[in-house]
Amino acid sequence: MTARILVVDDIPANVKLLEARLMAEYFDVLTASNGFDALDICDRTQVDVILLDIMMPEMDGFEVCERLKSNPRTAHIPVVMVTALDQPSDRVRGLKAGADDFLTKPVNDLQLISRVKSLVRLKTLSDELRIRHDGTRHAGIDDALRLTDGRLEEQAQVLLVDSRGASQERIVKTLKPIAEVSALSDPQAAVFEAAENGYDLVIVNSNLADYDPLRFCSQLRSLERTRFIPILLITEQGDEQMIIRALDLGVNDYIVRPLDPNELVARALTQVRRKRYNDRLRNSVRQTIELAVTDGLTGLHNRRYLDTQLRTLFARAKVRGRPLTICITDIDRFKLVNDQFGHDAGDEVLKEFSGRIRSTVRGADLACRYGGEEFVLVMPDTTADVAANVAERLRLMIEARPFQLRSGEVPLMLTASMGIATLGPGIDTPEQLLKQADRALYEAKNSGRNRVVAAAA
Ligand SMILES: [Mg+2]
Repeated sequence: MTARILVVDDIPANVKLLEARLMAEYFDVLTASNGFDALDICDRTQVDVILLDIMMPEMDGFEVCERLKSNPRTAHIPVVMVTALDQPSDRVRGLKAGADDFLTKPVNDLQLISRVKSLVRLKTLSDELRIRHDGTRHAGIDDALRLTDGRLEEQAQVLLVDSRGASQERIVKTLKPIAEVSALSDPQAAVFEAAENGYDLVIVNSNLADYDPLRFCSQLRSLERTRFIPILLITEQGDEQMIIRALDLGVNDYIVRPLDPNELVARALTQVRRKRYNDRLRNSVRQTIELAVTDGLTGLHNRRYLDTQLRTLFARAKVRGRPLTICITDIDRFKLVNDQFGHDAGDEVLKEFSGRIRSTVRGADLACRYGGEEFVLVMPDTTADVAANVAERLRLMIEARPFQLRSGEVPLMLTASMGIATLGPGIDTPEQLLKQADRALYEAKNSGRNRVVAAAA
């Protein structure tokens, strides 16, 4: 994992020290000796993480951080404040300024590298999601994706796994201003709890009785439903081996006993904010994908989706020697509906028609609007005979019930024609299969409409 780190400090010796340590881990390092240069660098080039000194002449670290976080171009870059050990209040101020994390001087090597790596990992994930989102941008979502400025819009849901009652109580109380904490002492029960309910964060105290805390963490990482929940591990001072292994397992952050309440709140907040941001991005990407494969009017899949899915289903049926049948259906004399009642009425008919298709198809079938008043059903593992029954059922359903238009007009009696084609000798591509079904549909139209015609095998 390589990334570009910007080190900002007014004392050259401090810059050199951090630069050397980061370069030893193969990070690409940029440096600045004051806030103005730092802002300038962030504006001009891509920076993945910023290590920011607080005490600097002219513009201090808090102001630099505030400016970075209020500029949309730089707001997503994680900022690590480097604070003096004797100034715990700086941490709270740093968080208010929007900092994502902090390190205390003198900076411990393991802390430096693990925090930077963890933030780079988070940022990489966010970047990837943001790029996908930008590629398929649609309105109204950008606002939802803005990183909140250090506050949470609602209480975080935190699951605490801790064997000792006294320590549970202390942590619940510390996190009370920002989170609703459920505390459990049994790790096994906690795995189920985490999978069942949507938590924003799991905090694991390494004091678990008779249970390896890392086993618990790896269980959370391996389950589909808990894979993305951030984990914060509480460990003993000096237990560096455990920390290294935990971070390797995908634990997001750690905190060392004795617990500093400010630090606990800060680390919990950072993880929760990042998770919510990534959840929102993930949802928006999913919505965008859904929009891209769905026909806006009818809610059925669109032609683009049909093209990709049919290719896959076709190849699979060929390889496994399984049947595959498709049906193209077209509303008879649809043009008259549009001409006589207008396009709104036409749209109503298409929606109702799609609803009837949806209620006819079976679980594994794929229903798509092919274009205009033409629809395609793809029926995997289905012979021509069975498909003809499905199509006949649909035909009857169209014919049997009139289409009620919203405008209060007289209900319309409509029918549909259907052409069926099945995978067999001489059909080597999905296009050929579609063409055959189309030919059968043409025949159905020509021989009087309102009927199902199967292409000759
Ligand atoms: Mg300084």
